[in-house]
Amino acid sequence: MKCINCKTKMKEKLVEHKEFGVSLGKFPAMTCSKCGERFYGLAAVDKIQAASKKAGLFGKVSRVKAAKIGNSIAIRVPKEIAEFVHLKPGMDVVIHPESGKMIVEVV
Ligand SMILES: [Zn+2]
Repeated sequence: MKCINCKTKMKEKLVEHKEFGVSLGKFPAMTCSKCGERFYGLAAVDKIQAASKKAGLFGKVSRVKAAKIGNSIAIRVPKEIAEFVHLKPGMDVVIHPESGKMIVEVV
C-alpha cells in the first residue's frame, strides 16, 4: 500500500491514537515513514471507537451557529461538552487564537 500524499510505501506499525488530546492507546495502522500519514483498518477503527466510548470522548464534537449579541459574537456550548470540561454558568474562560483556530480554555 502506498501513501496517498507522497507515494512512499506504507508499513504497519503500532501507533498511539489521541482524541481531543487524550491518548486512547496504541493501534495497528499502515504508516508512512516520510510524511506521517496513517491509515487504520476496520478492526482498528472498531477498537478505537470502543476506546473512545469507554473514555467518554465519543460524539464530543458539535457544530453550533455563532450568534450576534450587540457587537460581540456568542457561541452556545452544548450541555454534553460543558459537563465534560466542567464548565458552569458564571465561570471564567480564556479565549485566544492559535494557528487560525480559536481555543477556549476553562480556567
Ligand atoms: Zn506519505
